[in-house]
Amino acid sequence: TELDRIRNFSIVAHIDHGKSTLADRLIQLTGTVAQRDMKEQMLDAMDIERERGITIKANSVRIEYPAKDGHTYILNLIDTPGHVDFAYEVSRSMRAVEGSLLVVDASQGVEAQTLANVYQAIDADHEIVPVLNKIDLPAAEPDRVKEQIEDVIGIDASDAIPISAKSGMGIPDVLEAIVQRLPAPKGDRDAPLKAMLVDSWYDSYLGVVVLIRVMDGVIRKGDTIRMIKTKATYKLDKLAVLKPQMVDIAELGPGEIGVFTASIKQVRDTRVGDTITHERAQCATALPGFKPAQPVVFCGLFPVDSAEFDALRDAIEKLALNDASFSYEMETSAALGFGFRCGFLGLLHLEVVRDRLEREYDIDLITTAPSVVYHIHMRDGEMRELHNPADMPDLTLVNHIEEPRIKATIMVPDDYLGEVLKLCQDRRGIQLDLTYAGSRAMVVYDLPLNEVVFDFYDRLKSVTKGYASFDYQITGYREDVLVKMSILVNDEPVDALSLMVHRDRAEMRGRAMCEKLKELIPRHMFKIPIQAAIGGRVIARETIAALRKDVTAKCYGGDVTRKKKLLEKQKAGKKKMRQFGKVEIPQQAFINALKMD
Ligand code: GDP
Ligand code: MG
Repeated sequence: TELDRIRNFSIVAHIDHGKSTLADRLIQLTGTVAQRDMKEQMLDAMDIERERGITIKANSVRIEYPAKDGHTYILNLIDTPGHVDFAYEVSRSMRAVEGSLLVVDASQGVEAQTLANVYQAIDADHEIVPVLNKIDLPAAEPDRVKEQIEDVIGIDASDAIPISAKSGMGIPDVLEAIVQRLPAPKGDRDAPLKAMLVDSWYDSYLGVVVLIRVMDGVIRKGDTIRMIKTKATYKLDKLAVLKPQMVDIAELGPGEIGVFTASIKQVRDTRVGDTITHERAQCATALPGFKPAQPVVFCGLFPVDSAEFDALRDAIEKLALNDASFSYEMETSAALGFGFRCGFLGLLHLEVVRDRLEREYDIDLITTAPSVVYHIHMRDGEMRELHNPADMPDLTLVNHIEEPRIKATIMVPDDYLGEVLKLCQDRRGIQLDLTYAGSRAMVVYDLPLNEVVFDFYDRLKSVTKGYASFDYQITGYREDVLVKMSILVNDEPVDALSLMVHRDRAEMRGRAMCEKLKELIPRHMFKIPIQAAIGGRVIARETIAALRKDVTAKCYGGDVTRKKKLLEKQKAGKKKMRQFGKVEIPQQAFINALKMD
């Protein structure tokens, strides 16, 4: 295809502003997918994405569009995730396209992820076409939102396109704007092959599938290619475009986007951002590489039933085949036995992986408290990364500890600003900026990641009745006074419950955790002390009173079926318990003990 008949673009939006619905309409209107095969959210492939309505992996679709100028154009859409955990995936797919549609819900206006994502597009030098969605809603205020886009983002919104992705209104204008307003890709067909590895995933039939954007040269089925960074060579088995299902194609030239398979064993063998060239005629320079995604949140995953350890290992290995940003290593815990310490890009990523393990592989899991990566500077000058509070070295050997900090941007209606400031302040935040755009405030805070990683987002949503939006980026590491807090149940430390906290917050957290555990651990036949301690010093304590009556006693011995039911219920509850010493701890306690409210 000639370069000036190609347009490559992505759609950037805050979650729920209508990105997937718009993508569906573009696919539908151009007849890319036959009407009878059309299902909602074509690009959101994974079940869990559909259920939660979020896009996790970047996906791509090639659309053929006969424009008003009489020419047919190839439009390549790369869909990007909208959630903060996946900001890195957004940034890399942006480099593969020349323009972006900026979708803003006209009844909501600009939100935190709108900003984060549009800045990524601006960084990638994109031409940006603002699109005002949901103008069918009575609450839509397209003029006010136009103004807001200009004020807050600083781009011209006078030509913003009003649409309703739901009804289909305005979609033809969007297609025309893609052709008229976005630039065609550049590239040299006669130069040696240079293509960007945009993404890769594991397909159970085809093996590893690699999504590429060709910059220069031509790639053909059967070619022997070389990945410049990994230095590996492969012979292409299959070359295809995504419509969005795979359709074989003979070659891909400059500006084109497609996929290939080449008997690559695992996703880990493909580095996103790597440059692909021909084994024989190599390109002179590589594309500027990307930093690999670093896991920032770690937690332990243990089977409830220790007999399921092998099944868990198989499941984790399979998942890791398809998700190179997820890391794992074996872990043993005195409380929980054998399991894995796993690293994730963020909390949503953690939840997604855990849900998939439980659902697709049918394994009951105990998840331990998520922890960030600390830098432990030892007295001897060595720096150790701490992924698990249980591994904290002896304090006498430690010089100082550093923790990751983030820059958080929160957008919130005026009325809730006070609550948001209080929450950030409570979490050791330092205010960096506070500005207004209409009746919405934009606050920027410097916060420790460990205060955010757990329930910050849930709290933020609850104190603002869902009206706040949030985005963050990690800014670096800073020293602070951090200590390891241990929890003792029945006088024995439960390693899976230990955590790192700031010294000034230790007592408050310790008390809260003991109180929570008192609620979460059922009564036993004996009394159970629960303590929080730093080093050998107990800073908080609660006691669970001993159980006096039999659980069925309140049935007065009369109704036998009720009694039976109660016992069965109790038995079912047992499965979700973990025996620890003489005490049974419910699986949920390991994570709920940390919730602060
Ligand atoms: P995404 O998170 O940006 O991909 O958003 P979705 O496309 O999943 O849309 C979020 C919600 O908004 C869904 O319930 C859609 O049906 C709804 N929605 C999308 N576009 C429109 C629109 O133009 N009008 C109305 N009323 N609802 C819309
Ligand atoms: Mg979506």
